Amino acid sequence: MLKQMIKVIRSGDANGKNMIIKLTLSSGLDIYGFATPNFYGGDWDYGASWNYLVLSDQPFLLDTGRFNMGKKLLDMINAASLSINDFKYIVISHGHEDHDGGLYDLAEMTGKKIKAHAPYKQLTHFYPDLAPAGARPDFPASCWHCFMPEAYVNQNCLKYHKERTLLEIDEIKDGNSGLGERVKTYHVPGHSPDSLAIQLGDEAILVGDTVLPEITPFPSREAFFYQVEKVLYPEHTTADELYGLRAYIKSIKKLKKIGEKYSDIITLPGHRLFSNNNWNEINLRDRANELIEHHIQRCAAVLQIIKKEAKTIHQITKEHFPAHMLKDIGSAMAELEVHSHLELLIIAEDVMQAGRDKFIAAGSSNFKNIIRNLS
Ligand SMILES: [Zn+2]
Ligand SMILES: [Zn+2]
Repeated sequence: MLKQMIKVIRSGDANGKNMIIKLTLSSGLDIYGFATPNFYGGDWDYGASWNYLVLSDQPFLLDTGRFNMGKKLLDMINAASLSINDFKYIVISHGHEDHDGGLYDLAEMTGKKIKAHAPYKQLTHFYPDLAPAGARPDFPASCWHCFMPEAYVNQNCLKYHKERTLLEIDEIKDGNSGLGERVKTYHVPGHSPDSLAIQLGDEAILVGDTVLPEITPFPSREAFFYQVEKVLYPEHTTADELYGLRAYIKSIKKLKKIGEKYSDIITLPGHRLFSNNNWNEINLRDRANELIEHHIQRCAAVLQIIKKEAKTIHQITKEHFPAHMLKDIGSAMAELEVHSHLELLIIAEDVMQAGRDKFIAAGSSNFKNIIRNLS
């Protein structure tokens, strides 16, 4: 069905990179998709970033590609016979560099108003006096937990960090988007604390990185909340509201409900809409179920590894992931995954800390009920 609705305006590579598409919903609403190249490679590569231009009655561009992609994205918009006069706002699906990296340049070039979910704005600022021990006080709060290598950061992030703080951001709240009559926004934190989903009538939903085909988006960690607690709005009072696997699963369940209500809703992801020369059609309800099941299985696998012997995060990660997944930044990504699952297992009292940095299974499997009951 998706395939029939999509008109390819410009083809890209086998994984969609540089592709431009147009999709017309049955209500007549036009959505354009632009796949801008990404930087990351190897086994944790998400592929090109899909940015969407939605011609609703308050037309908006969702996402801006990675750092330095602003100009390229604008060229792609022009290549689709559109211009900056065709949209009113730039909306950010979540504050990861592969989605808001081109924001500053695009905002400069177009003068458009920017909208993002509330924590985005707080987290893009610098608070040198509030950075906790172990964090980098010279980074914005969103990046206090950054684990990217120094060389990468110096080349890609310093300018990006500085520019983002200069931007004026309008805050989007649940349901109250100002993006058009039939456009509804949902806060779906977990992958990132500011993640948004945007529903277009009963026909389509833009889900950012919260639901992806082929790959399972990485969850953040609840520990990140305690780093940035002081810079967030006071209404954000608990970690699992914004960060970690519990927040993520709650968000997946929120989207699953939408998928149940509108069984053929078209789901447009932030990556992998097209890969291996194929359109990846997402059934929102089914994909949500798969993602929940994936995390249940991963919790079970982590428990199994520490069933008899206490182990460090590093040891658990090495046993759980195949060696090729642990190359370069892969090991930091993999440890983040294990860590966020351990956080849930500790809350479930299925895992205990053993000594300073080791963990051991307690013998129970409460996590299944915890995950089942999250809402
Ligand atoms: Zn992301
Ligand atoms: Zn992404």
